[in-house]
Amino acid sequence: MTQVTHSSDVIVIGGGPAGATASALIAQAGYEVSLLEAQTFPRFHVGESLIPAVNLTLDRLGVLDQMDGHGFPSKHGVQFYSPKGAGRPFYFSEATDPRMHQTWQVLRSDFDSMLLDKAVENGVTTFMGTRALEARRDGDRITGIRATNGHDEKLTFDAPVVIDASGQNGVVARRLGRRTGVPDLENLAVFAHYRDARLDDGIDAGSTLIFRLEAKSWLWFIPLPGVVSVGLVAPSKTIWSYGDEPESVLDAAIGACPHLMERLDEASRTTDVHVARDFSYVAQQEGGEGWLLAGDALGFIDPVYSSGLFLAVYSAELAADAVDDAFKAGGPPRFESYAASYRSAWDRFLSIVRAFYTEGFHFGPLAKDADGRQGLVDILTGDVGTPSADRVARAISATLGG
Ligand SMILES: Cc1cc2nc3c(=O)[nH]c(=O)nc-3n(C[C@H](O)[C@H](O)[C@H](O)COP(=O)(O)OP(=O)(O)OC[C@H]3O[C@@H](n4cnc5c(N)ncnc54)[C@H](O)[C@@H]3O)c2cc1C
Repeated sequence: MTQVTHSSDVIVIGGGPAGATASALIAQAGYEVSLLEAQTFPRFHVGESLIPAVNLTLDRLGVLDQMDGHGFPSKHGVQFYSPKGAGRPFYFSEATDPRMHQTWQVLRSDFDSMLLDKAVENGVTTFMGTRALEARRDGDRITGIRATNGHDEKLTFDAPVVIDASGQNGVVARRLGRRTGVPDLENLAVFAHYRDARLDDGIDAGSTLIFRLEAKSWLWFIPLPGVVSVGLVAPSKTIWSYGDEPESVLDAAIGACPHLMERLDEASRTTDVHVARDFSYVAQQEGGEGWLLAGDALGFIDPVYSSGLFLAVYSAELAADAVDDAFKAGGPPRFESYAASYRSAWDRFLSIVRAFYTEGFHFGPLAKDADGRQGLVDILTGDVGTPSADRVARAISATLGG
Protein backbone atom coordinates (compact mmCIF):
# COMPACT_ATOMS: atom_id res chain seq x y z
CA MET A 1 0.00 0.00 0.00
CA THR A 2 1.46 3.38 -0.99
CA GLN A 3 1.56 6.27 1.44
CA VAL A 4 0.39 9.63 0.03
CA THR A 5 0.59 12.82 2.08
CA HIS A 6 -1.04 16.15 1.23
CA SER A 7 -0.24 19.37 3.09
CA SER A 8 -2.22 22.60 3.20
CA ASP A 9 -3.12 25.43 5.59
CA VAL A 10 -6.60 24.07 6.34
CA ILE A 11 -8.39 20.72 5.94
CA VAL A 12 -12.18 20.77 5.66
CA ILE A 13 -14.02 17.46 6.14
CA GLY A 14 -17.29 17.44 4.18
CA GLY A 15 -18.39 19.26 1.03
CA GLY A 16 -21.98 20.05 2.11
CA PRO A 17 -23.13 23.66 2.56
CA ALA A 18 -21.07 24.17 5.74
CA GLY A 19 -17.85 22.71 4.33
CA ALA A 20 -18.23 24.42 0.95
CA THR A 21 -18.96 27.80 2.57
CA ALA A 22 -16.12 27.63 5.09
CA SER A 23 -13.59 26.47 2.51
CA ALA A 24 -14.69 29.01 -0.13
CA LEU A 25 -14.28 31.90 2.33
CA ILE A 26 -10.96 30.66 3.70
CA ALA A 27 -9.55 30.21 0.19
CA GLN A 28 -10.83 33.67 -0.72
CA ALA A 29 -8.82 35.03 2.22
CA GLY A 30 -5.68 33.58 0.62
CA TYR A 31 -5.11 30.24 2.37
CA GLU A 32 -4.58 26.77 0.89
CA VAL A 33 -7.53 24.50 1.62
CA SER A 34 -7.96 20.74 1.09
CA LEU A 35 -11.59 19.60 1.19
CA LEU A 36 -12.37 15.90 1.69
CA GLU A 37 -15.82 14.71 0.60
CA ALA A 38 -16.84 11.07 1.03
CA GLN A 39 -19.35 11.10 -1.80
CA THR A 40 -19.27 12.26 -5.42
CA PHE A 41 -21.45 15.22 -6.38
CA PRO A 42 -24.20 15.83 -7.34
CA ARG A 43 -25.77 13.77 -4.56
CA PHE A 44 -29.21 13.66 -2.95
CA HIS A 45 -29.61 15.31 0.47
CA VAL A 46 -32.58 16.16 2.68
CA GLY A 47 -33.10 19.79 3.76
CA GLU A 48 -34.57 21.69 0.83
CA SER A 49 -36.17 24.81 2.27
CA LEU A 50 -34.01 27.88 2.92
CA ILE A 51 -34.86 30.72 5.27
CA PRO A 52 -33.95 34.23 4.12
CA ALA A 53 -31.06 34.79 6.54
CA VAL A 54 -29.10 32.38 4.31
CA ASN A 55 -29.20 35.11 1.63
CA LEU A 56 -26.56 37.09 3.55
CA THR A 57 -24.06 34.23 3.32
CA LEU A 58 -24.97 33.54 -0.31
CA ASP A 59 -24.30 37.22 -1.01
CA ARG A 60 -20.91 37.07 0.70
CA LEU A 61 -20.09 33.98 -1.37
CA GLY A 62 -21.12 35.84 -4.54
CA VAL A 63 -23.76 33.31 -5.66
CA LEU A 64 -26.98 35.34 -5.29
CA ASP A 65 -27.22 35.94 -9.07
CA GLN A 66 -26.79 32.22 -9.72
CA MET A 67 -29.56 31.47 -7.22
CA ASP A 68 -31.81 33.96 -9.03
CA GLY A 69 -31.13 32.42 -12.42
CA HIS A 70 -31.25 28.76 -11.44
CA GLY A 71 -35.00 28.19 -11.52
CA PHE A 72 -35.40 27.33 -7.83
CA PRO A 73 -38.93 28.27 -6.65
CA SER A 74 -39.01 31.61 -4.89
CA LYS A 75 -40.05 31.20 -1.25
CA HIS A 76 -41.95 34.17 0.15
CA GLY A 77 -43.31 32.68 3.33
CA VAL A 78 -44.48 29.78 5.43
CA GLN A 79 -47.96 28.68 6.44
CA PHE A 80 -48.92 26.41 9.32
CA TYR A 81 -52.00 24.17 9.25
CA SER A 82 -53.63 22.73 12.34
CA PRO A 83 -56.06 19.82 11.94
CA LYS A 84 -58.79 22.53 11.92
CA GLY A 85 -57.35 24.41 8.92
CA ALA A 86 -54.86 26.97 7.66
CA GLY A 87 -53.35 29.67 9.85
CA ARG A 88 -52.60 33.13 8.49
CA PRO A 89 -49.42 32.90 6.34
CA PHE A 90 -46.20 34.48 7.59
CA TYR A 91 -44.66 36.52 4.75
CA PHE A 92 -40.97 37.36 4.77
CA SER A 93 -41.87 40.76 3.27
CA GLU A 94 -42.96 41.62 6.83
CA ALA A 95 -39.42 41.00 8.12
CA THR A 96 -37.41 43.86 9.61
CA ASP A 97 -34.41 43.44 7.27
CA PRO A 98 -35.23 44.13 3.57
CA ARG A 99 -32.48 41.73 2.44
CA MET A 100 -34.58 38.94 3.92
CA HIS A 101 -37.89 39.47 2.12
CA GLN A 102 -37.62 36.34 -0.04
CA THR A 103 -35.49 33.21 -0.46
CA TRP A 104 -35.60 29.86 -2.32
CA GLN A 105 -36.60 26.21 -2.13
CA VAL A 106 -33.66 24.16 -3.41
CA LEU A 107 -32.86 20.77 -4.86
CA ARG A 108 -29.91 19.97 -2.64
CA SER A 109 -28.07 18.11 -5.39
CA ASP A 110 -27.96 21.39 -7.37
CA PHE A 111 -27.56 23.79 -4.44
CA ASP A 112 -24.72 21.88 -2.78
CA SER A 113 -22.91 21.51 -6.13
CA MET A 114 -23.26 25.25 -6.74
CA LEU A 115 -21.59 26.07 -3.40
CA LEU A 116 -18.86 23.48 -3.90
CA ASP A 117 -18.17 24.82 -7.41
CA LYS A 118 -17.74 28.24 -5.82
CA ALA A 119 -15.19 26.80 -3.41
CA VAL A 120 -13.25 25.28 -6.32
CA GLU A 121 -13.45 28.58 -8.22
CA ASN A 122 -11.91 30.26 -5.15
CA GLY A 123 -8.98 27.81 -5.25
CA VAL A 124 -10.03 25.01 -2.86
CA THR A 125 -8.55 21.60 -3.74
CA THR A 126 -11.32 19.00 -3.47
CA PHE A 127 -10.77 15.30 -2.84
CA MET A 128 -14.10 13.72 -3.82
CA GLY A 129 -14.88 10.12 -2.88
CA THR A 130 -12.40 10.55 -0.02
CA ARG A 131 -13.58 9.57 3.44
CA ALA A 132 -11.92 11.03 6.53
CA LEU A 133 -11.30 8.20 8.98
CA GLU A 134 -9.82 9.85 12.04
CA ALA A 135 -7.90 12.84 13.27
CA ARG A 136 -4.11 12.72 13.61
CA ARG A 137 -3.18 14.12 17.00
CA ASP A 138 -0.20 15.36 18.91
CA GLY A 139 -1.51 15.44 22.48
CA ASP A 140 -4.59 17.69 22.45
CA ARG A 141 -3.61 19.31 19.17
CA ILE A 142 -5.04 18.01 15.88
CA THR A 143 -2.41 17.94 13.17
CA GLY A 144 -4.24 16.33 10.27
CA ILE A 145 -6.54 13.59 9.06
CA ARG A 146 -6.18 9.98 8.00
CA ALA A 147 -8.42 9.19 5.05
CA THR A 148 -9.25 6.62 2.39
CA ASN A 149 -10.42 6.87 -1.21
CA GLY A 150 -10.98 3.15 -1.63
CA HIS A 151 -7.82 2.73 -3.71
CA ASP A 152 -4.64 1.06 -2.64
CA GLU A 153 -3.32 4.16 -0.91
CA LYS A 154 -2.90 5.29 2.69
CA LEU A 155 -3.88 8.95 2.61
CA THR A 156 -2.77 11.46 5.18
CA PHE A 157 -3.60 15.14 5.15
CA ASP A 158 -1.54 17.53 7.28
CA ALA A 159 -2.59 21.05 8.24
CA PRO A 160 -2.44 23.31 11.30
CA VAL A 161 -6.27 23.61 11.19
CA VAL A 162 -8.98 20.99 10.60
CA ILE A 163 -12.65 21.99 10.23
CA ASP A 164 -15.11 19.16 10.79
CA ALA A 165 -18.09 19.90 8.51
CA SER A 166 -19.01 16.24 8.03
CA GLY A 167 -22.65 16.76 9.01
CA GLN A 168 -24.39 14.46 11.45
CA ASN A 169 -21.49 11.99 10.99
CA GLY A 170 -19.21 14.34 12.91
CA VAL A 171 -15.88 12.61 12.36
CA VAL A 172 -14.08 14.84 14.87
CA ALA A 173 -17.22 16.11 16.63
CA ARG A 174 -18.21 12.71 17.98
CA ARG A 175 -14.75 12.21 19.48
CA LEU A 176 -14.04 15.68 20.85
CA GLY A 177 -17.19 17.80 20.67
CA ARG A 178 -19.07 16.27 23.63
CA ARG A 179 -22.29 16.18 21.62
CA THR A 180 -25.38 16.54 23.83
CA GLY A 181 -28.84 15.51 22.66
CA VAL A 182 -32.07 17.34 23.41
CA PRO A 183 -34.47 15.07 25.33
CA ASP A 184 -37.91 14.83 23.68
CA LEU A 185 -36.53 15.90 20.30
CA GLU A 186 -35.56 12.43 19.15
CA ASN A 187 -37.48 12.27 15.90
CA LEU A 188 -37.30 10.44 12.61
CA ALA A 189 -38.38 11.70 9.20
CA VAL A 190 -39.70 9.79 6.18
CA PHE A 191 -39.96 11.72 2.95
CA ALA A 192 -40.19 11.58 -0.85
CA HIS A 193 -40.76 13.74 -3.94
CA TYR A 194 -44.08 13.89 -5.83
CA ARG A 195 -45.09 15.35 -9.17
CA ASP A 196 -48.45 16.89 -10.11
CA ALA A 197 -49.16 18.19 -6.61
CA ARG A 198 -51.56 21.11 -6.30
CA LEU A 199 -49.77 24.37 -5.46
CA ASP A 200 -51.22 27.68 -4.32
CA ASP A 201 -51.27 30.63 -6.72
CA GLY A 202 -49.01 33.66 -7.05
CA ILE A 203 -46.32 34.24 -4.44
CA ASP A 204 -47.84 31.47 -2.28
CA ALA A 205 -46.86 28.85 -4.89
CA GLY A 206 -43.36 28.57 -3.40
CA SER A 207 -44.28 28.67 0.29
CA THR A 208 -43.38 25.94 2.74
CA LEU A 209 -46.52 24.42 4.25
CA ILE A 210 -46.40 22.71 7.64
CA PHE A 211 -49.32 20.43 8.56
CA ARG A 212 -49.63 19.43 12.18
CA LEU A 213 -50.85 15.85 12.40
CA GLU A 214 -50.71 15.20 16.14
CA ALA A 215 -49.07 17.00 19.06
CA LYS A 216 -45.63 15.58 18.24
CA SER A 217 -45.91 14.82 14.53
CA TRP A 218 -46.22 16.97 11.41
CA LEU A 219 -45.76 16.92 7.66
CA TRP A 220 -43.85 19.27 5.36
CA PHE A 221 -44.79 20.31 1.80
CA ILE A 222 -41.94 22.04 -0.04
CA PRO A 223 -42.36 23.06 -3.71
CA LEU A 224 -39.25 22.24 -5.77
CA PRO A 225 -38.56 22.50 -9.51
CA GLY A 226 -41.15 20.16 -11.12
CA VAL A 227 -41.88 18.25 -7.90
CA VAL A 228 -42.78 18.80 -4.27
CA SER A 229 -41.00 17.32 -1.29
CA VAL A 230 -43.33 15.79 1.29
CA GLY A 231 -42.11 14.44 4.61
CA LEU A 232 -43.39 13.24 7.94
CA VAL A 233 -41.58 14.04 11.19
CA ALA A 234 -42.58 12.05 14.27
CA PRO A 235 -40.97 10.68 17.44
CA SER A 236 -38.63 7.77 16.73
CA LYS A 237 -40.51 5.72 19.34
CA THR A 238 -43.93 6.08 17.71
CA ILE A 239 -43.38 6.73 13.99
CA TRP A 240 -43.68 3.04 13.11
CA SER A 241 -47.21 3.01 14.49
CA TYR A 242 -48.18 4.59 11.12
CA GLY A 243 -46.93 1.52 9.22
CA ASP A 244 -44.28 -1.19 8.92
CA GLU A 245 -42.27 0.27 6.05
CA PRO A 246 -41.26 3.85 5.17
CA GLU A 247 -43.72 3.80 2.22
CA SER A 248 -46.69 2.72 4.33
CA VAL A 249 -45.74 5.18 7.09
CA LEU A 250 -45.71 8.12 4.67
CA ASP A 251 -48.89 7.00 2.89
CA ALA A 252 -50.74 6.59 6.19
CA ALA A 253 -49.61 9.96 7.51
CA ILE A 254 -50.64 11.75 4.31
CA GLY A 255 -53.96 9.88 4.39
CA ALA A 256 -54.54 11.12 7.94
CA CYS A 257 -54.08 14.75 6.88
CA PRO A 258 -57.01 15.87 4.67
CA HIS A 259 -55.54 19.35 4.03
CA LEU A 260 -52.40 17.79 2.55
CA MET A 261 -54.25 14.92 0.91
CA GLU A 262 -56.28 17.32 -1.26
CA ARG A 263 -53.02 18.75 -2.66
CA LEU A 264 -51.74 15.29 -3.56
CA ASP A 265 -54.89 13.59 -4.90
CA GLU A 266 -53.53 13.61 -8.48
CA ALA A 267 -49.86 13.36 -7.53
CA SER A 268 -47.49 10.44 -7.98
CA ARG A 269 -44.28 9.66 -6.14
CA THR A 270 -41.07 10.11 -8.16
CA THR A 271 -38.49 8.90 -5.62
CA ASP A 272 -38.04 6.16 -3.06
CA VAL A 273 -39.25 7.00 0.43
CA HIS A 274 -36.16 7.96 2.43
CA VAL A 275 -35.69 7.80 6.19
CA ALA A 276 -33.53 10.32 8.09
CA ARG A 277 -32.51 10.64 11.69
CA ASP A 278 -33.79 13.88 13.20
CA PHE A 279 -32.39 13.95 16.76
CA SER A 280 -31.58 17.49 17.93
CA TYR A 281 -28.14 18.01 19.54
CA VAL A 282 -25.33 20.49 20.00
CA ALA A 283 -21.63 20.03 20.74
CA GLN A 284 -20.58 21.32 24.15
CA GLN A 285 -17.11 21.96 22.77
CA GLU A 286 -16.98 23.80 19.43
CA GLY A 287 -13.24 23.64 18.90
CA GLY A 288 -9.79 23.28 20.40
CA GLU A 289 -6.18 23.54 19.32
CA GLY A 290 -6.07 23.05 15.57
CA TRP A 291 -9.73 22.07 15.15
CA LEU A 292 -13.25 23.43 15.00
CA LEU A 293 -16.74 22.23 14.12
CA ALA A 294 -19.21 23.74 11.64
CA GLY A 295 -22.72 22.95 10.37
CA ASP A 296 -24.49 19.80 11.52
CA ALA A 297 -21.19 18.58 12.96
CA LEU A 298 -21.60 21.39 15.51
CA GLY A 299 -25.34 21.27 16.10
CA PHE A 300 -28.69 20.28 14.66
CA ILE A 301 -32.27 21.30 15.44
CA ASP A 302 -35.51 19.67 14.35
CA PRO A 303 -36.41 21.08 10.89
CA VAL A 304 -39.92 22.43 11.59
CA TYR A 305 -38.66 26.00 10.98
CA SER A 306 -36.14 25.09 8.24
CA SER A 307 -33.29 26.48 10.34
CA GLY A 308 -30.65 23.84 9.42
CA LEU A 309 -29.02 25.38 6.37
CA PHE A 310 -28.98 28.82 7.95
CA LEU A 311 -27.24 27.48 11.07
CA ALA A 312 -24.87 25.47 8.85
CA VAL A 313 -23.69 28.32 6.65
CA TYR A 314 -23.72 30.83 9.53
CA SER A 315 -21.43 28.64 11.63
CA ALA A 316 -19.25 28.10 8.54
CA GLU A 317 -18.84 31.86 8.13
CA LEU A 318 -17.90 32.21 11.80
CA ALA A 319 -15.44 29.34 11.41
CA ALA A 320 -13.84 30.89 8.32
CA ASP A 321 -13.43 34.25 10.07
CA ALA A 322 -12.01 32.57 13.19
CA VAL A 323 -9.42 30.71 11.09
CA ASP A 324 -8.38 33.91 9.30
CA ASP A 325 -8.08 35.74 12.65
CA ALA A 326 -6.03 32.89 14.15
CA PHE A 327 -3.55 32.82 11.25
CA LYS A 328 -3.20 36.60 11.33
CA ALA A 329 -2.61 36.54 15.10
CA GLY A 330 0.14 33.89 14.74
CA GLY A 331 0.86 31.30 17.43
CA PRO A 332 -1.05 28.05 17.93
CA PRO A 333 -4.53 28.31 16.32
CA ARG A 334 -7.13 27.76 19.07
CA PHE A 335 -10.90 27.76 18.63
CA GLU A 336 -12.48 27.09 22.03
CA SER A 337 -14.97 29.96 21.74
CA TYR A 338 -15.55 31.06 18.17
CA ALA A 339 -19.28 30.27 17.93
CA ALA A 340 -21.04 32.28 20.67
CA SER A 341 -23.44 33.99 18.24
CA TYR A 342 -24.19 30.62 16.60
CA ARG A 343 -25.17 29.29 20.04
CA SER A 344 -27.52 32.24 20.60
CA ALA A 345 -29.25 31.52 17.28
CA TRP A 346 -29.37 27.78 18.06
CA ASP A 347 -30.94 28.52 21.49
CA ARG A 348 -33.52 30.84 19.96
CA PHE A 349 -34.62 28.26 17.41
CA LEU A 350 -34.69 25.60 20.10
CA SER A 351 -37.08 27.68 22.19
CA ILE A 352 -39.63 28.04 19.36
CA VAL A 353 -39.18 24.39 18.36
CA ARG A 354 -39.95 23.39 21.96
CA ALA A 355 -43.02 25.65 21.88
CA PHE A 356 -44.22 23.96 18.68
CA TYR A 357 -44.02 20.55 20.33
CA THR A 358 -45.58 21.63 23.65
CA GLU A 359 -49.16 20.45 23.91
CA GLY A 360 -51.49 23.35 24.60
CA PHE A 361 -49.00 26.01 23.43
CA HIS A 362 -50.46 28.26 20.72
CA PHE A 363 -48.58 30.90 18.73
CA GLY A 364 -51.94 32.54 17.85
CA PRO A 365 -52.12 34.95 20.83
CA LEU A 366 -48.50 36.06 20.25
CA ALA A 367 -49.12 36.60 16.53
CA LYS A 368 -52.23 38.75 17.16
CA ASP A 369 -50.09 41.48 18.71
CA ALA A 370 -48.17 43.52 16.06
CA ASP A 371 -44.83 43.33 17.88
CA GLY A 372 -45.33 39.63 18.60
CA ARG A 373 -46.02 38.94 14.95
CA GLN A 374 -42.96 40.98 13.96
CA GLY A 375 -40.83 38.92 16.34
CA LEU A 376 -42.17 35.64 14.98
CA VAL A 377 -41.59 36.72 11.36
CA ASP A 378 -38.05 37.83 12.22
CA ILE A 379 -37.26 34.48 13.84
CA LEU A 380 -38.81 32.58 10.91
CA THR A 381 -36.53 34.52 8.51
CA GLY A 382 -33.51 33.68 10.69
CA ASP A 383 -33.07 37.28 11.89
CA VAL A 384 -33.16 36.00 15.45
CA GLY A 385 -31.65 38.97 17.29
CA THR A 386 -34.08 41.82 16.53
CA PRO A 387 -35.74 43.55 19.52
CA SER A 388 -39.11 42.04 18.55
CA ALA A 389 -37.55 38.57 18.29
CA ASP A 390 -36.05 39.08 21.78
CA ARG A 391 -39.44 39.99 23.22
CA VAL A 392 -41.17 37.01 21.58
CA ALA A 393 -38.46 34.65 22.81
CA ARG A 394 -38.85 35.99 26.37
CA ALA A 395 -42.65 35.60 26.18
CA ILE A 396 -42.28 32.00 24.96
CA SER A 397 -39.74 31.18 27.68
CA ALA A 398 -42.03 32.66 30.32
CA THR A 399 -44.94 30.53 29.10
CA LEU A 400 -42.85 27.36 28.84
CA GLY A 401 -41.19 28.06 32.16
CA GLY A 402 -37.71 28.02 30.56
C1 LIG B 1 -35.52 15.37 8.04
C2 LIG B 1 -34.72 16.62 7.85
C3 LIG B 1 -35.29 17.70 7.19
C4 LIG B 1 -34.56 18.88 7.03
N1 LIG B 1 -35.14 19.95 6.41
C5 LIG B 1 -34.46 21.11 6.31
C6 LIG B 1 -35.03 22.24 5.66
O1 LIG B 1 -36.14 22.20 5.14
N2 LIG B 1 -34.30 23.38 5.62
C7 LIG B 1 -33.05 23.46 6.17
O2 LIG B 1 -32.45 24.53 6.13
N3 LIG B 1 -32.47 22.39 6.75
C8 LIG B 1 -33.14 21.22 6.83
N4 LIG B 1 -32.54 20.14 7.40
C9 LIG B 1 -31.17 20.29 7.92
C10 LIG B 1 -30.14 20.32 6.81
O3 LIG B 1 -30.28 19.19 5.99
C11 LIG B 1 -28.75 20.34 7.44
O4 LIG B 1 -28.72 21.27 8.48
C12 LIG B 1 -27.66 20.70 6.41
O5 LIG B 1 -27.58 19.74 5.40
C13 LIG B 1 -26.31 20.81 7.14
O6 LIG B 1 -25.27 21.04 6.23
P1 LIG B 1 -23.80 20.49 6.55
O7 LIG B 1 -22.94 20.96 5.45
O8 LIG B 1 -23.44 20.77 7.94
O9 LIG B 1 -23.96 18.90 6.49
P2 LIG B 1 -24.32 17.98 5.25
O10 LIG B 1 -25.17 18.71 4.29
O11 LIG B 1 -24.83 16.71 5.81
O12 LIG B 1 -22.93 17.72 4.54
C14 LIG B 1 -21.94 16.93 5.16
C15 LIG B 1 -21.08 16.32 4.07
O13 LIG B 1 -20.02 15.63 4.71
C16 LIG B 1 -19.76 14.43 4.00
N5 LIG B 1 -19.13 13.50 4.93
C17 LIG B 1 -19.68 12.84 5.97
N6 LIG B 1 -18.77 12.07 6.58
C18 LIG B 1 -17.61 12.25 5.92
C19 LIG B 1 -16.29 11.73 6.07
N7 LIG B 1 -16.01 10.84 7.04
N8 LIG B 1 -15.33 12.14 5.21
C20 LIG B 1 -15.61 13.02 4.22
N9 LIG B 1 -16.84 13.54 4.02
C21 LIG B 1 -17.82 13.16 4.87
C22 LIG B 1 -21.14 13.98 3.55
O14 LIG B 1 -21.05 13.11 2.43
C23 LIG B 1 -21.82 15.30 3.22
O15 LIG B 1 -21.71 15.63 1.85
C24 LIG B 1 -33.24 18.95 7.54
C25 LIG B 1 -32.66 17.86 8.17
C26 LIG B 1 -33.39 16.70 8.34
C27 LIG B 1 -32.76 15.53 9.03
